[in-house]
Amino acid sequence: MVKMQCRECKNIYVRATNAPYKKLCPPCYKKRYAIPLTDSDKSLIAVNEAYKALTIKSDTLKSKYEDLIHSYEAIQHRRPDDFSLRLKTLLSLCHPDKHNNNQTATEITQWLLSNRSK
Ligand SMILES: [Zn+2]
Repeated sequence: MVKMQCRECKNIYVRATNAPYKKLCPPCYKKRYAIPLTDSDKSLIAVNEAYKALTIKSDTLKSKYEDLIHSYEAIQHRRPDDFSLRLKTLLSLCHPDKHNNNQTATEITQWLLSNRSK
């Protein structure tokens, strides 16, 4: 037996290894030649429909999960709302003009300025 994908409906079906000419699943073959569907054909259609529905739900869940991960990462890297205001205060407090051009004050001011736009 070989697992195949139906040319018509794209569903998976199983055919005999020695029947490579069978390119359609039994329901599609029977629909094409107006042959009545059996209960097992109807079951195969139902199983394939259920599988498709599960796949859609699974894709939706995956997409929601990825959205949550992205939001979480965004929150992790977000600065507090008062960051800019506090940075301005820090700059005014340690500005070298207020500390006789002290070397440390200059370095810290430059460091704060370099972090302002990040
Ligand atoms: Zn088919």
